[in-house]
Amino acid sequence: MTTARYRRIVLKLSGEALSGKQGYGIEPTVIQSIAAQVKEVAELGVEVAIVVGGGNIWRGKVGSEMGMDRANADYMGMLATIMNSLALQDSLENIGIPTRVQTSIEMRQVAEPYIRRKAIRHLEKKRVVIFAAGTGNPYFSTDTTAALRAAEIEAEVILMAKNNVDGVYTDDPKVNKEAQKYENLSYMDMLNEGLGVMDSTASSLCMDNDIPLIVFSITEEGNIKRVVQGETIGTTIRGK
Ligand code: UDP
Repeated sequence: MTTARYRRIVLKLSGEALSGKQGYGIEPTVIQSIAAQVKEVAELGVEVAIVVGGGNIWRGKVGSEMGMDRANADYMGMLATIMNSLALQDSLENIGIPTRVQTSIEMRQVAEPYIRRKAIRHLEKKRVVIFAAGTGNPYFSTDTTAALRAAEIEAEVILMAKNNVDGVYTDDPKVNKEAQKYENLSYMDMLNEGLGVMDSTASSLCMDNDIPLIVFSITEEGNIKRVVQGETIGTTIRGK
């Protein structure tokens, strides 16, 4: 068995990654497959923290474009991430992986509040920790949450699992057939070239704190483990 390259990782799952082909809500088979992939990685002894998005249920920007107050719309988005987190916790625990959800917006009957030291303790005890409710602040994203939590818990890498693309391209590969996939990229180039991998707040946070990011496809089973074992798939972003 090949050993893991990382001791502690943050896995970023967009809400869409949980919705499969239907593009909305939660697809049980998809979430079960993700849970099985996380299990493989946890069994390598890697400490796994997960940040889940909410775009499969609600995005604050859409609400605000419909005339809603942006902050309210964003709080709805954060609540959506909690629903996704509970679904993922359920799938992980069903296959025997002890999992804790910590929320940035207190919801004590449902999950623990986010406490950095407690999260680290859970990880040391080899429990998967899911960070829900984003940063707890409107105007932010769950990508920024992944960057922030990765810095806080001293994760060595952020793995950004995508279900519609297998890395970062020079252009949208669905529109431009000539688009080339990058194997390596710097945060500065990503920002300068406006490559839509993550928002600029998240990118800057990763760049300033020297946290590498690997963007890869989750639709191929076993890919999370491959990345954790150091196989070159997807695109790696690091440095200035
Ligand atoms: N959100 C927020 N603050 C945060 C994280 C998320 O306000 O710190 C809201 C925001 O409205 C966002 C929604 O939650 O649209 C869902 O998160 P995101 O769009 O990042 O999810 P993903 O695209 O990863 O599914």
